[in-house]
Amino acid sequence: MKRVTLTFDNGPHPEGTPYLLDILAKRSLEATFLLVGEKLRDPQLRKLAQETRNQGHAIANHTLTHGVPLGKRPGRDVAEREIGEAQQMLGELATGKLFRPNGDKGQLGPHMLSEDAVDYLCENRYTAVSWNCVPQDWIMPADAWVGRAVDTMKTQDWSVLVLHDHCVDAGKHVGAFLDRLAGEGWEFSLQFPPDVVMIKDGVRTPALEGLYSPRSAG
Ligand SMILES: [Zn+2]
Repeated sequence: MKRVTLTFDNGPHPEGTPYLLDILAKRSLEATFLLVGEKLRDPQLRKLAQETRNQGHAIANHTLTHGVPLGKRPGRDVAEREIGEAQQMLGELATGKLFRPNGDKGQLGPHMLSEDAVDYLCENRYTAVSWNCVPQDWIMPADAWVGRAVDTMKTQDWSVLVLHDHCVDAGKHVGAFLDRLAGEGWEFSLQFPPDVVMIKDGVRTPALEGLYSPRSAG
């Protein structure tokens, strides 16, 4: 059976997040929302994050600022700020210590993490996940991502799909997309397949290979 893990990145978003919560609730589906820490300084967005958690979804850390990817910004201080401060912002809303770095328009590669960030994640016993299906929901027309998602998902047994709260127009097509998957017998999961789990409870896995920038020797 084909399986899919639903993830929504870069939220909360004042319009997109409530819309997605409604779509998921109507279908009794749960997803992981990966939040940008600094957004929670806005009380309205913090309330949305709380609502997300109340509805049974998982909440994870998607950096403090979603700035230049961490692989291009080595340094312990950067890791502490982008990962540690974000986790503090999430506080009790976080579902454990689950982190996803930001990439560059969904690209996988050494730009995602510095070795300092990897060390920080390991020392603080985080689990860090990547992705294997980014249908670029930010590209118009707003429904075109659906075909791209299905094309990729058909090629693998367990897809970790990345959509975005802030892609509000694309989000209008999520409901029909989920209904289609359900109709085709797809299994929805809140877990992550081993091939996207780069760090598991503070331990590096083979999936980390090629997804961080090692400290240069000397
Ligand atoms: Zn992101």
